[in-house]
Amino acid sequence: MTGVRRIILLTLGWEELPKAVSVYGTPREERLREPVPGVLLECDGGWLLLDTGFNTALIRDPALYQRFYPSVEYLPVLPGPGEPIAEALDQVGVDIGDISAVALSHLHHDHAGGVKLFAGRVPVHAQRRELAYGMLNSPEPEKHAMARVDYDDPRIDWRLADGEEVIAPGVTVIPTYGHTPGHQSFMVELDESVGGGGFVFAFDAADLTENIEQELAIGGFVDIDPQDTVEPIRRLKKLSAEKGFELIPGHDPHVWPAMTERFATRFS
Ligand SMILES: [Zn+2]
Repeated sequence: MTGVRRIILLTLGWEELPKAVSVYGTPREERLREPVPGVLLECDGGWLLLDTGFNTALIRDPALYQRFYPSVEYLPVLPGPGEPIAEALDQVGVDIGDISAVALSHLHHDHAGGVKLFAGRVPVHAQRRELAYGMLNSPEPEKHAMARVDYDDPRIDWRLADGEEVIAPGVTVIPTYGHTPGHQSFMVELDESVGGGGFVFAFDAADLTENIEQELAIGGFVDIDPQDTVEPIRRLKKLSAEKGFELIPGHDPHVWPAMTERFATRFS
């Protein structure tokens, strides 16, 4: 078996929000500035990009902003004047043309917004039930922070999974439904040539380290009880422990920059 040869973490923006979005029940006045994550994986056949950040048009157009970001509690922050993916790829020296596939953890606006850059160009992986929810339940998805314009694009070459599946050599999607109806996390196994081992990327199944360590319910969920979001966290912890892999939370303001550095050093 061949595995992933390089991991690069990207920060595709930030979001300033109540911590209650990440940890259920936190007092509303406690606020965080969380990174918007993207992950580049060098696999056999090219780079696989996990998640795509915001749709810049919905933030930069004032009328669209009012529609998609009506809450004063939530503030999206773009890193620069251009497309966050293009800017982030520039910084790490990866050509967008060398990305051979994209995978989405889920369809929230801060994860699926950049898929427009890949529509008609490369395959896009997601869970079948996530896309079905996003396409068939209007207007509920938009109330739950999914912007249909991001993903209802006939040019997208969808590759839809039903549960766990290997989507590239060394990359397995792990269903973690709850945050959204078809949310998925990712297990990444490194190639022996770079020392083996691996990592599990929780994405929004666990935003912060405390969601993992203290098994605290997350604040964002669709049609379930908040406490039901703890089961996927426990499952990811069990999987990580069995494999001896580190479990990385999706939006932790301390962990994400620290891991970005660690990967940059390890794979330099
Ligand atoms: Zn989310």
